[in-house]
Amino acid sequence: MIINYFVDVPASLAGFLGMEAIARLMHKYVMHGILWPLHMDHHIEMGHRFQRNNFFALFFAAIAVSLFVLTLRTGNAAFASVGFGMAMYGLAYLIVHDMIIHNYYLHLRNRRHSRYVQNLIAVHELHHVNDGRNRGRNWGFLFYIPGIDEVPWKKGDGQK
Ligand SMILES: [Zn+2]
Ligand SMILES: [Zn+2]
Repeated sequence: MIINYFVDVPASLAGFLGMEAIARLMHKYVMHGILWPLHMDHHIEMGHRFQRNNFFALFFAAIAVSLFVLTLRTGNAAFASVGFGMAMYGLAYLIVHDMIIHNYYLHLRNRRHSRYVQNLIAVHELHHVNDGRNRGRNWGFLFYIPGIDEVPWKKGDGQK
């Protein structure tokens, strides 16, 4: 039963939270480093309907799919559980980063949001303030970490 592959909650959680950790590091050291040409059109409006930046999401989706295949090949449910967590992260990224923070697709930004999400919007906006390669703050996507991330509390209503 395929459902048995998803019962490993700790592995799924590790996949989900691990993705934010990896995405954060990759954003800081790779996307704003050697792969800036792929991330650039997320920062600078270039008129692309499909942002090159989406290749990062496709890259992680390919890894998640590979993990599902590994489970089918080996019978070890842990791979698919991690892949499931990664897929859930991708969905959350699509909703939170793309649709809420940047108001893409379903335009969810101006809905009522919790104080945490309102702050997250403001925190991510700081990442985008100077739309250049050498932005030096706020690398997360789904979470912000007070003490590590710069939190503009006063602008925390998330509305412009
Ligand atoms: Zn960036
Ligand atoms: Zn962004």
